[in-house]
Amino acid sequence: MKDMQKLFPSIDGNEYHREELISYIKNILTEIDELKDPSKLTLGEMPEYTEDYYNRITQQAKVPEMGLSMEETVQKLLGLVKGHRYVNSNYVANAAPLPNIASILGNLIMVLVNGNSLWDVEGPAAATAEVEITSMLSKLIGYDPNVSAGYTTWGGQGAVFQSLRLAIARHEPQSNQKGVPNNVYCFCSELSHYSLYKSVEATGIGINNMIRVKVKEDHSMDLEDLKEKMEQVIADGGIPLYVLATMGTTDTFGIDDIKGIKGITEELEQKNDLLPIYIHADSAMGGMYTFFNDYDFETNPMQFSGKVCDVLTNYQQKFRNISIADSMVFDFHKLGQTPYITSLFLIKNKEYLKYVDLDASETPYVGNRGYGSYHTSYTLECSRMGSAMAIYASLLAFGAEGYQQLLANYIHVNIAFREALIKEVPNVAITNEISPITTFRFYPEAPKWNDEQNGYVQLEEMTEINQFNDKFAEVIGIERDIIFFGNTKKQCLIKPVNASQRIPVYAHKFFAISPYTTIEEIDRYVAFLKEHMAFYLKTREQILV
Ligand SMILES: *Cc1c(COP(=O)(O)O)cnc(C)c1O
Repeated sequence: MKDMQKLFPSIDGNEYHREELISYIKNILTEIDELKDPSKLTLGEMPEYTEDYYNRITQQAKVPEMGLSMEETVQKLLGLVKGHRYVNSNYVANAAPLPNIASILGNLIMVLVNGNSLWDVEGPAAATAEVEITSMLSKLIGYDPNVSAGYTTWGGQGAVFQSLRLAIARHEPQSNQKGVPNNVYCFCSELSHYSLYKSVEATGIGINNMIRVKVKEDHSMDLEDLKEKMEQVIADGGIPLYVLATMGTTDTFGIDDIKGIKGITEELEQKNDLLPIYIHADSAMGGMYTFFNDYDFETNPMQFSGKVCDVLTNYQQKFRNISIADSMVFDFHKLGQTPYITSLFLIKNKEYLKYVDLDASETPYVGNRGYGSYHTSYTLECSRMGSAMAIYASLLAFGAEGYQQLLANYIHVNIAFREALIKEVPNVAITNEISPITTFRFYPEAPKWNDEQNGYVQLEEMTEINQFNDKFAEVIGIERDIIFFGNTKKQCLIKPVNASQRIPVYAHKFFAISPYTTIEEIDRYVAFLKEHMAFYLKTREQILV
């Protein structure tokens, strides 16, 4: 076994073993650093993804008969990293984080002691960190930390799933035994994330019982439509169970009016003698902006510009109401710049958990012992990674002010990008509100966004404009290793003048996510789009001729 022991860290803390591990880590950091190039998105060249790329890998793969040396193993791993996208200033596509140093170290510590957040006996560090961040963030958003509960889970999607599970169990405590009733309904904005779609599918509620509510021009839920649709469900004998309030839609950063939603659910509960309707704030994208809930914009101690303050003041009014929600989520691995997966699911009232908690007799391996007092038998996972460590580390190292600075910069950069784009490119329209994301749409000739929004444009023309944007996404996508813009095929739905159905609108996305995406970079982004558009218009003309 001596040979095998060499593959593990020491148990006595000897220096020789430590230096060996450090040397591997140093080698990895050095080689990755050598691949970095601030003017490119990728670490070295992208592999050539031929048709049979994965097929060939499938054919060649085999467990080696004899283990490789650690040096060879590291080289194999670094081989996989070649061509990897690296979130520097050239990445403006989606909410992909560049993990900050504190979070990397938090993660490393978690791996070194390999705690299991399932039970504090097996993972005391992460369990305590989890309790601590639950309290810290409860205080930030206005939940009572003595009443709230929270745990890290599998992403914003996991939070949606688990909130729906709580809603079902609270509404129908017998459902654990008897299954889900077939007359309950969920409501969400038509621009909400597909998390709820998957969750109604997996819980057995069924997609037919998920009602999509229209959005307004600001991409937030149209509350009149919500009310009408809830009343219709009730009139047809259904029971409204759950509303998903999206706080920051994935593509356009629309923020639902959670106070307005609560007003409607309470009114309907009273009028129809219903049990409380559960509201989950899907704040996977926007939740970090609760860091401004207590910011004083009058004195503006961080000296944000007037325009940035205007946007943030507006957010403050909306995000202060998040405490109305029965649960919400912090997806640190989006705007919080930590590694995957670091999501905290926060529940307003820990009482809800009793409906889904397992009886001690169902968990014979752990928990029902005299030792240990933190046992998460209510989570859908059994073993859980201690990702609370990475979140905790980031909160300590950034502080509220650090996050405020980071989050304000996303807005600052977007304002500048919008102004420069409109100034430099004549055939573009900006199609969402100011936020960390700018969506924009190009036109073969002059922009027609207002006409499109008002429903004056023909189906054929809107389809052509969609295709114009789709092809342009292909054109700039070829050079995504220089600058990588995002795009969406459903920024929203709009009705053409001559059609009865609304159709999805294609748009491009600029997502200021990296801390290296600063004001100084704006001209470069806009020049890239301008040059490629000129080229695209020219080649298109030639093809049309
Ligand atoms: C990203 C996102 C999700 C899913 O979050 P994951 O962490 O990727 O699981 C859910 N809802 C919204 C609004 C999102 O933007």
